[in-house]
Amino acid sequence: MTMIPKSPDRSALEQEQFLKILSREEALARFEAALLPHALRSETRKLAAALGAALAEDITAPIDVPPFDRSNVDGFAVRSADLAAAGEGAPVRLALNGETIHCGTAPSLQVAAGTATPIATGGPLPRGADAVVMVEHTQPAGPDAIDVRRAVSPGQFVSYAGSDIARGEALLRAGTVMGSREIGMLAACGIAEVSVARRPRVAVISTGDELVQPGQPLGPAEIYDTNGAIVAAAVDENGGEAVFLGAIPDDEARLEAAMCSALADADMLVLSGGTSKGAGDLSHRIIGRLGAPGIIAHGVALKPGKPLCLAVCDGKPVVILPGFPTSAMFTFHDMIVPVLRRMAGLPPRSDAKVSATVPVRIASELGRTEFVMVSLVQGRDGLIAYPSGKGSGAITSFAQADGFLRIDALADQMPAGTATEVTLFTPHVRVPDLVIVGSHCTGLDLVTAKLAHAGLTVRSIAVGSLGGLAAAKRGECDLAPIHLFDDRSETYNTPYLVDGLELVPGWRRMQGIVFRKGDMRFQGLNAKDAVAAALADSSCIMVNRNQGAGTRILIDRLLGGVRPDGYWNQPRSHNAVAAAVAQRRADWGMTIAPVAHAASLGFIPLAEEHYDFALVTARKHRPAVQAFLDALGSDAARVALERAGFRPA
Ligand code: AMP
Ligand code: MG
Repeated sequence: MTMIPKSPDRSALEQEQFLKILSREEALARFEAALLPHALRSETRKLAAALGAALAEDITAPIDVPPFDRSNVDGFAVRSADLAAAGEGAPVRLALNGETIHCGTAPSLQVAAGTATPIATGGPLPRGADAVVMVEHTQPAGPDAIDVRRAVSPGQFVSYAGSDIARGEALLRAGTVMGSREIGMLAACGIAEVSVARRPRVAVISTGDELVQPGQPLGPAEIYDTNGAIVAAAVDENGGEAVFLGAIPDDEARLEAAMCSALADADMLVLSGGTSKGAGDLSHRIIGRLGAPGIIAHGVALKPGKPLCLAVCDGKPVVILPGFPTSAMFTFHDMIVPVLRRMAGLPPRSDAKVSATVPVRIASELGRTEFVMVSLVQGRDGLIAYPSGKGSGAITSFAQADGFLRIDALADQMPAGTATEVTLFTPHVRVPDLVIVGSHCTGLDLVTAKLAHAGLTVRSIAVGSLGGLAAAKRGECDLAPIHLFDDRSETYNTPYLVDGLELVPGWRRMQGIVFRKGDMRFQGLNAKDAVAAALADSSCIMVNRNQGAGTRILIDRLLGGVRPDGYWNQPRSHNAVAAAVAQRRADWGMTIAPVAHAASLGFIPLAEEHYDFALVTARKHRPAVQAFLDALGSDAARVALERAGFRPA
């Protein structure tokens, strides 16, 4: 996150950073005050091109709709007074006038007393007529007359001019977002063009030496530019027109050139990265030269998102979002979207909120408003909000969460069991059909794929085996995948079950030692000898696993109390262990065979681990649970699991 200062004066500037951290509310208020008053820029668009745009002004109906009194049925235009005495036993005969009024035909003959004129649905009522009688309620009486056997009231089957839309009526208000219904109303009034708010052009720039655009190969220490794509899409989602200008390396001259030209033909500039500490000085200094008043807030008491920088340069907002994608998204939605929508003439976002209970304690930093992404599941009484434990660097936490909750700046935690409000990312709560909480395994995706294809939504929340068991005991999930070894009985999983839970056998995963192929310290040895060889070589570095992981129990048994170099490197997943070895941060570690093979590493099998499911018996009858059990037992799943290197139980 920090950049090593490239020049001596930079460290002085660094100290200026975050000297004055503003509260979220204060920063927002100052930002908006610097931008307002902001005249809405409008443009005229053809009706067909106005979909999704916000009207720039109120629209008044220029004509009556319908424009004339018209018939609602196929029948005869009559004078109701003629038929006052008509009845079943007393038909009234009317002479037919010599014209038929079709849609689009203007009548030329008057309906005189004792006469009727044939008229089609939508035809204009002729002079003299005040009602229409349906053709079904008449009988022909020769070629030139009809008999009518029921009375009609004045105005029957007539739509009067202006009864739908009256000339001069307020049709649509400024700010209305044009949908098909609004477009239809305007078309009915003959309006061909509308004045809509011009979509603000928002230039989007990512910054960082490490960034590579998707589609390009990834070099060592490089990552894909995520913010560029995310911010551009979020701009478009909120009424702007994103102009993505790529990623610029951390180079002051190049960045300044890019920012200047971007701002020249945009209404707003959004950068991401390079705002925390050292590297932030770059954009900080550049913004000061882009226009007045410059920086409004640099450092906001938000989590994630503290390094957010808000500026206004010659009336245009310039924003530097934090580099971590999740932080970038939160600050963008929370602080930038309101301004963008106002510039786009759109009403504020109407976020749907639900109440939910948090099942675990969530620690929070005192003094910062904290946003925590959550996944919602249905609990015994009401919704449960599981915090996503992945941190602000994680992109999946954003994509897979249902919404977020907010922890007040003055709180240092949210205790387990707190009822809180969750702001949803989508307008509706999507409670999944099947909830799996516990240890994650790539094999699980092979089984649930079938359910997803059948239209069932599956939510799998990775909280580890013990967390899953706790959730199952509280009835918050259908299944808890676990791989827990019991030292006393030397068996897996069964000893951990309690009343209300039953074991569904899953599959076996071969645990073993990973090393780089060709490393002669390990080649050809069994696991015990390989570890002995590693311990004998002081230059050999291991990678461990986190406390509580099933794999960790095996490692500790193998090490027998020794703590070799690398012991305190304790990543939380099988994949991280393989990556550490493949990238030479470590020489050996323990992972499962499919992960070792996928990373093209050498593998020495040690012991098979049982990955099973604790099923909540009370939920067994649910269709999605049955579908899961069927999928698990299917030949297709067996084949897929075996192909991926697992051994179905
Ligand atoms: P920075 O504020 O530039 O130090 O960035 C903080 C973290 O966010 C670093 O890990 C960056 O690699 C990461 N980051 C910055 N920009 C992007 C981006 N556009 N996409 C994905 N990650 C980014
Ligand atoms: Mg950077």
